[in-house]
Amino acid sequence: MYEEELKIGLEAVDKAMRISRKIQKELTAGDKIDKSDKSPVTIADFTSQAVICSILNNEFPDIPIVGEEESTDLKKPENSGVFIKIENFLKNEKNLYDRLYKNDILESIDLGCAEPNPNIFWTLDPIDGTKGFLRGEQYAVALALIKNGEVILGISGCPNLSIEKEPGNEGFIFFSVKGEGSSQINCQTQESKKIVVTDHMDKNKMRFVQSYESGHGNLELQTDIAKKLKISEPPVQLDSQVKYGIVASGNAEIYLRIPNPKSPDYKEKIWDHAAGSIIVEEAGGIVSDINGKSLDFSLGSTLSGNTGILATTSGLHKEILDIISNS
Ligand code: AMP
Ligand code: MG
Repeated sequence: MYEEELKIGLEAVDKAMRISRKIQKELTAGDKIDKSDKSPVTIADFTSQAVICSILNNEFPDIPIVGEEESTDLKKPENSGVFIKIENFLKNEKNLYDRLYKNDILESIDLGCAEPNPNIFWTLDPIDGTKGFLRGEQYAVALALIKNGEVILGISGCPNLSIEKEPGNEGFIFFSVKGEGSSQINCQTQESKKIVVTDHMDKNKMRFVQSYESGHGNLELQTDIAKKLKISEPPVQLDSQVKYGIVASGNAEIYLRIPNPKSPDYKEKIWDHAAGSIIVEEAGGIVSDINGKSLDFSLGSTLSGNTGILATTSGLHKEILDIISNS
């Protein structure tokens, strides 16, 4: 099912990953804008969204795209230098620049400004973990297809991820279609293989992942829960949906995200979790909120019916929920 959507989605994510890698290598201090909510957006976020939206719109003009970015800030005169850089990166990509929607970068970005609907739409985080991207660390290009409020396809490109025991240092793409399992592509060797979560219950071998950014969760409580679980390794802090890919591929057992008490009204965005959650579930794991409730992607652009995130193995899920509810 959804073979064409998967093929084109993978092609689009791969192209955006290639450009993002180049941009990250050449990044300078002036390559970012601070959005009105103070979060950063870089030339890579805009370029990735322009590339992916133009490809998707070309192939699937009837499927709206709910992306994280929009072009308003880019149109401001003070950001003209940022715009020129985006244009230059895109012009260097032969074949791609010509395919941009009406050859207009701003319009291509704004193809991703649709609102969620009850039928079908793509959701896109062109650079998930922008703060990690700016630090030269982990980030993900995350794309998912949501139908009738349910995630049916997810692709998460992780350009900087290397996995122990796997050759290559050019990153991985994780992907999944509902009912068909999950897979990973090694971007260096191009090898594609099925992935599953681990099934062991040995606390000495368990790995716990959480956000790098302390403001994005409750690191203290999360670390305390890892201790109560008697996991010997300290939690590993990583940006973005890379964490879901690591759990899905059996390279960690637990990803926990408890709301930060300093931002109690923050609601998780669908594009931050759609791709990652289907990839873990189709790899045999369980993804819920911290009360055990399934993630509800039918409520618009946020997961307003959920509190926090827990992605883990079926063997650990209940034990962790019990510890959380008693903490
Ligand atoms: P991560 O690296 O897993 O923390 O994920 C990065 C994402 O965290 C960004 O794309 C933001 O949308 C999201 N984020 C921003 N502020 C918060 C917050 N206060 N609580 C939870 N997530 C947040
Ligand atoms: Mg994000």
